[in-house]
Amino acid sequence: MSEKIWLSSPHMSDEGYEMEYIKEAFDTNWIAPLGTNVDGFEKEVVKKVGAKHAAALVSGTAAIHLALIAAGIKEGDVVFCQDLTFSATANPIIYQRAIPVFIDSDYETWNMSASLLEEALEKYPQVKAVIITHLYGLSADLEKIVKLCKDKGVVLIEDAAESLGTTYKGQYTGTFGDYGILSFNGNKIITTSGGGMLLSDNEERINKARFWSTQARDKARHYQHSELGFNYRMSNVVAGIGRGQLKVLDQRLAKKNYIFEYYKKELQDLKDIGFMPVRHLNKPNFWISCITLCGEVRPEDVMDALAADNIESRPIWKPMHMQPFFQEYDFIGSDVGKTLFENGVCLPSDTKMSDEDLARVVKVIRSLWKDR
Ligand SMILES: *Cc1c(COP(=O)(O)O)cnc(C)c1O
Repeated sequence: MSEKIWLSSPHMSDEGYEMEYIKEAFDTNWIAPLGTNVDGFEKEVVKKVGAKHAAALVSGTAAIHLALIAAGIKEGDVVFCQDLTFSATANPIIYQRAIPVFIDSDYETWNMSASLLEEALEKYPQVKAVIITHLYGLSADLEKIVKLCKDKGVVLIEDAAESLGTTYKGQYTGTFGDYGILSFNGNKIITTSGGGMLLSDNEERINKARFWSTQARDKARHYQHSELGFNYRMSNVVAGIGRGQLKVLDQRLAKKNYIFEYYKKELQDLKDIGFMPVRHLNKPNFWISCITLCGEVRPEDVMDALAADNIESRPIWKPMHMQPFFQEYDFIGSDVGKTLFENGVCLPSDTKMSDEDLARVVKVIRSLWKDR
């Protein structure tokens, strides 16, 4: 069996930066949550992406949950959510007993359509917040979406779980909305094994998020609680991994870009193949290189052929309005997300891949076009 090629697996620094920070946590016995790595990681992420404040948390999902709470989302509130995304974007809306309304994507960005958002704002003038995703590291149509939300006074939350390092007009995704969230899950561009971060320019809200994330303990000697708390704070050991990983983010960005360009160069002549859209305002992080297929060769053929050679690939996210769990909620749009789901393939985008590995992937894919 050939060696396994992964879609996107953890890639620690060659220099061993992560272990240095972990060792420091051990040496100082700062194994408990909080400590220098947590503070340091928050400061370093803020500096890198140009946000003002950040709270390090156990996951990206927890960050979305706290963003909704910080935005005051309560039972019965309407929250717009990108339809084509991972379920983790939408689940926290349900945690708050709020009502999601799913909005379709456009082909230009693969993310929430600004014109459908406009339509949705007419239909639901009471909406409290909008959650957009920057799928696979492609930025959403930020200029239009930010303006629509500002004009209507609706809170904008950016799910930048997949787009750390992506810029739009030179500014990092996650810093355009009232809140941005990052994920450091094992498959993301950098990882802490599991983790997330909430970003905002609003210091008071970030301080509040830290408070909620550590069980909402009031300032008192005894255990006193005036609000609902959560155990959502990132640990000091995990944050050490993040500090080390952040040092190699630029290397990872360069490699992800290289992988996308490689596939494009080697596959673009194939009939009926398309690549994810890269627009001039947008400098993606190329977290995952995605293709679309609209001819005889179907995504299943590609995924099956790759799997037979021990190579991991995946379909594009299945839209939320097609998920059994979210059946009862409104959906605004048509079939853009559905079409991308049915025709898309996520190709291996692991930064540990060598040129030989990339050539192996390309060879398997090209073989499917041989007899057609
Ligand atoms: C990974 C991911 C999340 C969730 O992040 P976790 O850290 O795994 O909780 C949320 N949204 C999107 C779009 C993601 O890809």
